[in-house]
Amino acid sequence: MNAKEQLIQYGLKMKNDCLVKANWGNLSIRVPQGFIISPSGMNYEDISIEDIVTLNLSGNIVEGFRKPSSEYLLHSEIYREFENINSVVHTHSTYASAFAVSRKEIPPIIEDMVQIAGGNIRVAEYALPGTGELAKNVIKAIEGRNACLLANHGLTGIGRNIEEAYKVCLIVEKSAQIAYISKNLGEPFILSDKDIEIMREYYLNSYGQK
Ligand code: 13P
Ligand code: ZN
Repeated sequence: MNAKEQLIQYGLKMKNDCLVKANWGNLSIRVPQGFIISPSGMNYEDISIEDIVTLNLSGNIVEGFRKPSSEYLLHSEIYREFENINSVVHTHSTYASAFAVSRKEIPPIIEDMVQIAGGNIRVAEYALPGTGELAKNVIKAIEGRNACLLANHGLTGIGRNIEEAYKVCLIVEKSAQIAYISKNLGEPFILSDKDIEIMREYYLNSYGQK
């Protein structure tokens, strides 16, 4: 499957897994010219290969006739800042958004999340959607992690490939749900920095078929 086909497939997954409602959210993959990104405001079911837009890392269109996602600055800034990151997925999933609205980080309480995302999930300071300011705030909040919340907005996940960036968003959403439920059961236990480090190292270097 080529990168454009993958982008379409993961857009549909994002919708089917309820990480977004209707046409919100967006996703991209790094390519030699820069990155390919979903078109702005289109339903995921309606996106075909020719609707995908290719931009360079300065944010200029190099291929495609559609208006690119209004969050293209968020995506380009991430690719410019982190050279090992090859995909960005931005969702509006419900529990993660509830934490983002409360401007509370998701604590490091569950093992899959600390493995794939690296620890607590911080909240990027508020800025209007689509702005360079939002992109800068995300770069700051996501440092050392594979995800951060966007105040009063949603979640951004990043990964070495789209499978990982997408999985980060799914796991962070599940973790936000667990954090909310466990808080209602009593005070959740937080994993220690040492155990987080061990699990992160294990995920990056030996987990799975390695
Ligand atoms: P686009 O449809 O322009 O990608 O915008 C959706 C969104 O989530 C804005 O933050
Ligand atoms: Zn958004």
